[in-house]
Amino acid sequence: MTESENVKWHHAKVTKEQRRHLNKHKSAVVWFTGLSGSGKSTISVELEKELHHLGVRTYCLDGDNIRHGLNKDLGFRPDDRKENIRRIGEVSKLMVEAGLVVLAAFISPYRADRNEIRKRMDDGEFIEVFVNAKIETCESRDPKGLYKKARAGEVKEFTGIDAPYEAPLNPECIVNTDKQSVEESVQTIMSYLKAEGYLE
Ligand code: ADP
Repeated sequence: MTESENVKWHHAKVTKEQRRHLNKHKSAVVWFTGLSGSGKSTISVELEKELHHLGVRTYCLDGDNIRHGLNKDLGFRPDDRKENIRRIGEVSKLMVEAGLVVLAAFISPYRADRNEIRKRMDDGEFIEVFVNAKIETCESRDPKGLYKKARAGEVKEFTGIDAPYEAPLNPECIVNTDKQSVEESVQTIMSYLKAEGYLE
């Protein structure tokens, strides 16, 4: 649905399948969700390195970077979070159309918002990776000092403290960063991608 009746869809002469054929791999978004400090960015950066090394065309979308540009008008209220994730989902979809393997690392705390993106994509294009770690672990890592600020009341509506996090019910992959090293998490995801034929 668009706001205007005069907007119509233009079909490209080069299809997604043709772009995939040229790239010699499927395209999809690997969607990392989890608490702040669970390891989404760290793992996505390492996974991208490994995929790139194998000749896979990739692009990493990361929370803070997007909030500097595309979504700089959005805050952290529930509606803004929803719109933040919706836009990132749409950008991911375009990149998947372009034939890329997209790595998206966002807390994306609401299950419904993630499921909306899944619905917008074709089967197999949305690979949800639950980056699971106890909040105590995330808080002790506190890579950006945000838990400290949230506990001091300087940051409001912080996921896991005074805003909810809804874990995925049926993610394609789960990595437990309490127990798994970064390298082990990367290998868990690589095994999934290989087993499901993304990298042929
Ligand atoms: P997020 O993107 O989920 O907010 P980050 O990747 O920015 O999380 O931060 C996670 C921090 O935890 C990093 O400083 C990382 O080096 C550290 N870390 C320690 N152990 C692990 C692990 N097993 N997996 C992922 N990150 C880990």
